[in-house]
Amino acid sequence: MPSPRYWREVPARYRLEAGRCVGCGAVVYPARRICPACRGQQFERLALSRRGTVVTSTVIHVAPTEFQMEAPYAMAVVETPEGARLMVQVADCEPNEVGPGMEVALEFRRIRKEGKSGILCYGHKAVPVR
Ligand SMILES: [Zn+2]
Repeated sequence: MPSPRYWREVPARYRLEAGRCVGCGAVVYPARRICPACRGQQFERLALSRRGTVVTSTVIHVAPTEFQMEAPYAMAVVETPEGARLMVQVADCEPNEVGPGMEVALEFRRIRKEGKSGILCYGHKAVPVR
């Protein structure tokens, strides 16, 4: 079964919804209850752009079981224009092509099937903008 954390984050995952701290303006994704920067507890919802820039990336050669079929693949930290940072898989390219500064679009895709129950988990993947 997907973890409780997965379900709690479903709205954020589906809509790319972040929280912007009313106190200090920090953008956190997924939204949290407490701001990691100032400990503030008031947030306004912020819909993120479906694009961003790769900050760092790494190529995964040995993947967790559910992702084995896809290895090797690139994982990247992508920063949106709002300043939110997401850790996402980069699809539709050679893993070695991915690097800092690469412009990507964030697309809603199937991430994996969970176990025998066949529950499909959806989330965002980054795709290079060419
Ligand atoms: Zn804050």
